[in-house]
Amino acid sequence: MLNIILFGPPGSGKGTQSEKLVEKYHLIHLSTGDLLRKEIAAETPLGISAKAFMDDGKLVPDDVVIGMIGNCIDENFHAKGILFDGFPRTVTQAVALDLLLSHKSTPIKKVLFLKVNEDELIKRLVKRGETSGRADDANPEIQKRRQVIYKEQTLPVSDYYEQFDKVVNVEGIGTIDDIFNSLCEEIDKVSLEVE
Ligand code: ADP
Repeated sequence: MLNIILFGPPGSGKGTQSEKLVEKYHLIHLSTGDLLRKEIAAETPLGISAKAFMDDGKLVPDDVVIGMIGNCIDENFHAKGILFDGFPRTVTQAVALDLLLSHKSTPIKKVLFLKVNEDELIKRLVKRGETSGRADDANPEIQKRRQVIYKEQTLPVSDYYEQFDKVVNVEGIGTIDDIFNSLCEEIDKVSLEVE
């Protein structure tokens, strides 16, 4: 399977690029943010407990997210590959993901790290807050908290994968198509090995 992690801070463009990548490479798009928002909309017990964390700009507890991802991997084991978007967000989640994938002998092939500086991120998130309807986007204090949590809890995930030489940096500022092309170049290098 072609299993790829799209990594980067909130506002780096993971959602936008994921949509284009899954279409081109026929991958399953596994966005924990989207899955959690669906649980909230359906008012499930998981959604109700996750909502408070998300609205506050905090991470949902690892065991909740890992359980949700485990089900999705099982359901999509027949797929050509999975594009992970917004997951793993902690080293604990990364270790759990590696374990889940090792049971299926289908490891993460590459971690594509979208590089965007903080000024640009804040600008983008303020703009997104005007239209997205997401409580965590609309409030500047919560946006700042999300960037702090990213640095403290999520950035170490790139070090975790760095030790296995899986991380590739991709410039995340430019046109959507230019960034998409850079990501495709990297995926094409591994997809040949997977075929
Ligand atoms: P963005 O695209 O802005 O980075 P997401 O839609 O991926 O944001 O996630 C929104 C919120 O959902 C996060 O701030 C967090 O509260 C929660 N969330 C999403 N994925 C995870 C995860 N893997 N672990 C913990 N919390 C998560």
